[in-house]
Formats: sequence, structure tokens, C-alpha cells
Amino acid sequence: MKTSINLSPTIIVIFGGTGDLNLRKLAPALYNLYAEGYMPEKFAIIGTARKPLNDEQFRGTLMAGVNSFSRTGKVDKDKWGTFSENVHYNSVDVKDSASFDNLKVTIDKFKDEFGAGTQIVFYLAVSPDLFPSIAKRLAKFKMAENEDNCRIVVEKPFGKDLDTARELNELLKCRFTEKQIYRIDHYLGKETVQNIMAFRFANSFLEPLWNRNYIDHIQISVTEQLGVGDRGGYYDGSGALRDMIQNHLLQLLCIIGMETPINLDADEIRDKKVDVLKAMRTFSAEDIRFNTVRGQYTKGWIKGDEVVGYRSEKDVAEDSNTETFAAVKFFVDNWRWKGVPFYVRTGKHLAQTSSLITIQFRDVPHHVFPGGAAEHWQQNRLIISIQPEMSIRLQVQGKRPGLDMILNPVDMVFDYKGTYTTESPEAYETLLLDVMTGDQTQFMRADQVEIAWELLMPVVNAWETKKSLSFPNYTAGSWGPEDAEALIARDGFHWFTLPLSKD
Ligand code: NAP
Repeated sequence: MKTSINLSPTIIVIFGGTGDLNLRKLAPALYNLYAEGYMPEKFAIIGTARKPLNDEQFRGTLMAGVNSFSRTGKVDKDKWGTFSENVHYNSVDVKDSASFDNLKVTIDKFKDEFGAGTQIVFYLAVSPDLFPSIAKRLAKFKMAENEDNCRIVVEKPFGKDLDTARELNELLKCRFTEKQIYRIDHYLGKETVQNIMAFRFANSFLEPLWNRNYIDHIQISVTEQLGVGDRGGYYDGSGALRDMIQNHLLQLLCIIGMETPINLDADEIRDKKVDVLKAMRTFSAEDIRFNTVRGQYTKGWIKGDEVVGYRSEKDVAEDSNTETFAAVKFFVDNWRWKGVPFYVRTGKHLAQTSSLITIQFRDVPHHVFPGGAAEHWQQNRLIISIQPEMSIRLQVQGKRPGLDMILNPVDMVFDYKGTYTTESPEAYETLLLDVMTGDQTQFMRADQVEIAWELLMPVVNAWETKKSLSFPNYTAGSWGPEDAEALIARDGFHWFTLPLSKD
């Protein structure tokens, strides 16, 4: 088996071992890392939850998860056999100190077996209201004292507003150092998102153009065909602004907007992202009225199936004021971006599942071609497609072949499928490997989370206190509320989409 990196022995403790996140994402990611030679030579995965299970039963549960959700399909019998020997289970109620005694015994057994330098990763894949119980008991039992070797991974949501995010940061900071805390935003682990950094900072031709002098506006659009499904209980207390814009979309905006880092140190990159957030224009009441749009879906059709409206979803209040769609126009008030609008939108039960970043360049200063030649004139566009298509396309004007001078837009495309034969890892594979190697670059620092909340709090408060009178205001399967079209049309633009792929 290939061993491309030399990692210290590692114990990974997963709180919420029987939960959806572990079965869908973490277990497949750990198995794929193992299958591709990226796990340490010595490792132990200890799943924990209240349910009484023995190791064999837990391994069976995980294998079912991997078989259903892994990007590589069903497990290879031999590889699973050797991988699963390292998988164990401890029944733990995180609210009960006594069960941490047993967990400590299990961890200590592996620490002794693996020897000096063993690292321990505590992955908090449980509901956030259990974070305090876990943090308190890990500290009480001195299980995460070594700041070089013990790491805590915290899942989203990181707070539900600025106050709760600050509280959670305080709680963690009292017991662990910032160096130990890995706040996950899985979007940052996506291959195409990481490639934006390579594209921006490893190519010289872009930098001179990457500013207000050449860029007209930017769009970041993360749309989903799925509705809230079984997550109505969670989602109804959250909404699109908190669930998507505060974290994933603002982080994408930071990667597009950041200055060139001096190097790739985690704090250098995160400093540059924080600078973008600091430069973002705060929202006045008037800005909220004109520069934000919220929506909620009513029943409609998705891929030929009729779907219910949001207020009829399981565990959602009949008069819910929660937005399932949000569009916001942001400004970054600094030298590079002054006056360039960043339009951001996200929503559920929309016409397409896609994550697109579009950079529209300014028009040429003078049109030399006659109107007839340039009937399909289009300003240059750079479209970064994160999913489902993974590609970067530069749309330029070209001359159509023939004796007449007729121009039309053509795409110069770099797509992963056509360029590489190797499959891209899942975001959780990249991020779990980063945790094991101690690289915090793609994880949110405390100040990053708080400043993103600070920016959005006027909108969160306004939407919460002032019930929408127009909800539900878009049909499932559409592109969202009409006001979202108006938000961008007022400035003379429209939302870009890519044609649906045939797969
Ligand atoms: P879930 O399916 O409800 O799983 C919760 C887990 O916590 C179960 O293993 C449950 O097992 C365990 N648990 C509950 N109470 C416990 C207690 N007192 N002591 C010990 N264990 C306890 O939730 P999930 O979907 O996996 O989500 C977990 C976290 O990840 C949440 O913060 C969520 O927001 C976040 N997240 C999830 C996803 C996803 O795709 N699912 C994506 C992004 C973020 P027992 O009932 O047996 O104790």
C-alpha cells in the first residue's frame, strides 16, 4: 500500500459515532484515506454515542454507511478488513462524567500501545448543545491537555448569532488553545475551492486584472434542488442566511476578494480573509431594504416530482418565518474592490443544484466592430464552477468562421473531468487529513467566525423581528423570488447559470 505521508500515530474519537454525519461523510472519508495510503501507520478510530454497541456491531454500521455514501462505491473486502480492525466503539453519554472514565481507559490503552507522540483528535459530530458537556469533561479528565498533540474538531453550525458564537468561542478558549481548535467549514475542503487559490496566486496574468478597474461585478450562487428533507427541526431555527451565507458563501467571497498572501501559513491566509470581512460595508436599515432579499418556497415540481411547500415540511412551523432563500448585495470597501458589487444568493428547492462564482469583467473601452458583427456581444466572464461540474471557463469574444465578420462569445474551458484521470477527494478527506497533519489553513479561526456574524447581525435581526408578509414567495423548482431578480436587474445585470450537464 502507498504511504505518501509520514503521520504520527493517531487516535480519532468521534462523538456522535452513530450519527448521520459519521455514516455519510466521516467514515467514508477515513476509509478512503486509508485505502489510498493517507492514514498513519498506527491509528485507532473510537466511535462514541449512547447506544450500546460492541465493536463488531459498530463496524457493521460504518460499513453500511461507507457502502452507501463513499465516492469510491462499495468497500474492498480486504482493505475494509484491515481498516476495520482499527475501529472501536465506546458507549458514552456526554452528559455523564462516569462514561468518560471508560473512554479515558480506552484512549490510554491505545496511547500506551502507540507510544510517544501519539496524537488525539476529538471530533464533535453531535448537536451543538452538547459541545459544552464534551468540552467540560475533556478538560476535567485532562484528556486534551497536550496542545501539540490534542485537537478538537467542531462542526457547524458555529453559533446561531454573534452572541452564541462568542459564547462558544469563550467556552472552547477556556479549555483549549486556538491552535487545538479546528472549526470546520466543509466548503473550504472542496477541490475546486482550493483550486481558486492556485488559480489566483499561481498565475501572473490575473493579478493585474483582479480589481475594480477591470471587474464589473461578482456573483456567488450556491443553489440546491433539495428541500429541507428530514432536517426541518434544525433548519426552521436557522435559515439560508445563517446556514449558508454566514459561513460557506462569505468564505468563498473572502477567497475571491483576499489580497495575495506572503506565504501559505495558516494564519497568513486567515489574516488575509479576515481583512476582507473587515472591509465589508455594514448594513444600514436602508441597505437591508434594498440590498437583501429573502424567500420561502411553496409547493412545486422538482425533477418531475411534486414537492410540498416549506411550511408543510416535517417539524416546520405552519406560519414559519424562516427563509429558505437569501440573496444579498455586498460591498468590500477597500482599494481593490471599492464600488464592485458582490451578489450572493443561495436557496433550497431551486431549479438547479450548482455552486458558481462568476466574475464579470468590464466592457472594452471602445467598440470597434459594427453592431451587426457583435450581435451577441458579451463582456468577458470568468466562471468558476464548484459543483456539480468542476471547471473554470473564461468566456471571450471570438470570430465565427466564415467570410463575414461576426463575433460571438466562446468558452475557454479547464474542466477536471477532461484534464485529469484521478478522482478528486471528498472535502472531508482533505479536511480530516489536514487535522491529522495539524494544518489549520482551511479551518475557521475564532475572529473569522465572529466577524462574519457581526457583519450579518443587522440582517439576521431585521428578518427575525419583522415577519415577512410575502412568504411563501417562490415556487419549488423555480429560481427563487422575483425580488432576487430585481435586486440584480436594478443594476443592469442578471444571475448567471450554466446549462445543465447531460450526466
Ligand atoms: P445525528 O444524526 O442526530 O447524530 C447525533 C449523534 O449524537 C448520534 O450518534 C447520537 O447517538 C449522539 N448523541 C446524542 N446525544 C448524545 C449524548 N447525550 N451523548 C453522546 N452521544 C449523543 O446528527 P448529525 O446529522 O450526525 O449531525 C451532527 C453534527 O454535525 C451537528 O452539529 C450537525 O449540525 C453537524 N453537521 C451534520 C451534517 C450532516 O450531513 N449530517 C453536515 C454538516 C454538519 P445516540 O442517540 O445513540 O446517543
